Amino acid sequence: MKKEIFDIIVLGGGPAGMMAAGRAGELGSRVLLIEKNDRLGKKLSITGGRRCNITNAERNNHLFLDNFPESKQFLFSPFSQFNVDSTFEFFERRGLPLVVEDRNRAFPKSEKAEDVCEVLRKYVSESGNVKVKLNTAFISFVIKDGLLTGVKTSSGTFYASRIIIATGGLAAPETGSTGEGLSALAFIGHSVKEPDPDMAPLRTSSKWVHSLLGTTVEDMELRFIQNEKTKLKKRGRLLFTHFGISGPLVINSAHEVKKLLKKGTVIASVDLFPDYDLGSMDSLLLDLFEQHKNKQLKTALKELLQKKLSEVILELPKVPNGDTPVHSITKEQRKILVRTLKDLRFPINGTMGFEWSIVADGGVAPKEVDFKSMTSRLFSNLYLIGDTLNISRPSGGFSLQLCWTTGWIAGTHAAQN
Ligand SMILES: Cc1cc2nc3c(=O)[nH]c(=O)nc-3n(C[C@H](O)[C@H](O)[C@H](O)COP(=O)(O)OP(=O)(O)OC[C@H]3O[C@@H](n4cnc5c(N)ncnc54)[C@H](O)[C@@H]3O)c2cc1C
Repeated sequence: MKKEIFDIIVLGGGPAGMMAAGRAGELGSRVLLIEKNDRLGKKLSITGGRRCNITNAERNNHLFLDNFPESKQFLFSPFSQFNVDSTFEFFERRGLPLVVEDRNRAFPKSEKAEDVCEVLRKYVSESGNVKVKLNTAFISFVIKDGLLTGVKTSSGTFYASRIIIATGGLAAPETGSTGEGLSALAFIGHSVKEPDPDMAPLRTSSKWVHSLLGTTVEDMELRFIQNEKTKLKKRGRLLFTHFGISGPLVINSAHEVKKLLKKGTVIASVDLFPDYDLGSMDSLLLDLFEQHKNKQLKTALKELLQKKLSEVILELPKVPNGDTPVHSITKEQRKILVRTLKDLRFPINGTMGFEWSIVADGGVAPKEVDFKSMTSRLFSNLYLIGDTLNISRPSGGFSLQLCWTTGWIAGTHAAQN
């Protein structure tokens, strides 16, 4: 049987792998792209609620990289080669205009993640140099004389002089990111930080929180408290779910909260009226009660809070019952209500699992990679990109920008090597 020879093998057909394969093919390399799903870009097609938050339009490299506090020093070199401007240019040149929404989040104007996948699939195929092998799972590396020479897969062994690994992390395993790539990297000697869900919603055992399922508070302040000290404070939108709390602000806090949970109990405190201090909140309630003195408390409170939220709050221990006539509420009861609205507490028991996480932290330690070319410091013909790297970042398009940047650089350098 004739043995097919490739210059480069790319493992994993997600955003990073497609970018790398397309780029290497464009530069004339013969590339084999191996993907275990029956199509490329399965996870990409569900990103950003299927609208794909394709990048974050912070055009200044320094300000952009401020969002990667732990890995900033590694990323200057890659971002001097391919940055947010390059991403805009790449997609717009290929007929996919981008629009920028709040918090600099950029999306395709068509609002379809599938259109982003289509641009990349086309990029992969247009040079005619990339062979795509679907339904093929990478199993392990072939090593000869201390060099990687190929890969064993469910469809046989393939050889190439350079290998780019883009098999992702562990977030959303149903899309194919199940971690074999990371195991194979650990097997050949890379330090792989055990992945665990990083950017994910938070869980609580408080049943009353679960009963608020579907309720969104547009503007509140959320504090995470440990040993009666506020450790983290954020203001913005909060979403209650059937297991706890979610929304960008919560998801971006999960990494820190996880660290706190390792040290002990974490309590969340929600301030539903962050613009009021305790005194002005009390005055607000006094005015409200004055206007509604002959009504029941639950009716009066609807003026201030969404119905479901006020119903749930009025069932909490110590808080006056919703049927209480407003005129009979004592000063002490009013103070309790003020404190509850300003400091609604519940325990945090953990983050949701991999299936809920947007990014699972973990992956290869950045110090084991030369970021100028994305090559492994252990094997000079191995390139690591995208979610295989242990780089924490917030939500808002930063993850995909990392894929575009690292994918483009690995494709370029592997082709030129
Ligand atoms: C629900 C959700 C929404 C998100 N939304 C956004 C967003 O809007 N903006 C943003 O910036 N980020 C978002 N992210 C994060 C972003 O999707 C990831 O950071 C990104 O997909 C990582 O790309 P990757 O190419 O490194 O890995 P992946 O996208 O995970 O792709 C890896 C590919 O490798 C394949 N593979 C894995 N193992 C093997 C194997 N053994 N053999 C062969 N193939 C294999 C997988 O099937 C997969 O196709 C979101 C994530 C999730 C889960």
